[in-house]
Amino acid sequence: MGVDIIIVSGFSGSGKGTILKKLLSFCPELELIKSYTTRKKRDDADFYSFVTLEEFLRLKEKKFFLECNQYSGEWYGTPVHAVQSCINKGKIAVIEIDSNGFNQIMKSSVAKKYRVLSVFIVADADTIIKRLLNRNTENLEKILSRVNSSLDECECIAHYDFVLPNYDLDTSVAMLEKAFLTGEIPHMAFNAKEYKHRMQHLIWLLGD
Ligand code: 5GP
Repeated sequence: MGVDIIIVSGFSGSGKGTILKKLLSFCPELELIKSYTTRKKRDDADFYSFVTLEEFLRLKEKKFFLECNQYSGEWYGTPVHAVQSCINKGKIAVIEIDSNGFNQIMKSSVAKKYRVLSVFIVADADTIIKRLLNRNTENLEKILSRVNSSLDECECIAHYDFVLPNYDLDTSVAMLEKAFLTGEIPHMAFNAKEYKHRMQHLIWLLGD
């Protein structure tokens, strides 16, 4: 059976946005579902519709979202109509969300109706910190909030179909393309205990 919905989650700074951008640029079978968010724009208008908090809460009240969640103080949500219309067109809906949103979808009727494939993208703690500092889009307080979220997210990784450590962009893109189009799951290892240990040390160094 083919895949209808692909859920992509990952640590902030894991490079998931870059991987997805590249994959979507040459895979017409895939369609990215644009999330709604209240956070400030970065260089990512392809990924989001930016709305005010007031507008977001109004849409939430109207059951506009398949799932939604607050992450690092901002709201994010997946518009349900966009997922449905993508699947109706015969395309694969790619949903990039956090692990809380993933849990909401997996408990919903959508997960019973459609074939869902899920991946969690990771990188080692030093790479994550380097990427977040280099992209210059968040202050230190926000960066620390994001890396602290990654410590909690370690507990959820085992619920995904597979984990993808992203060290080389082209390799990651090729592996995801194969998994997404064939439904075949690669077996990759990630040592969450080691990640948490190293990240806690880096958080301590940064906070000093
Ligand atoms: P960022 O601000 O770095 O683009 O995203 C922050 C986090 O929110 C990431 O973990 C991203 O996967 C997640 N996210 C993006 N869109 C959505 C959404 O629609 N719903 C949920 N639950 N999380 C989202």
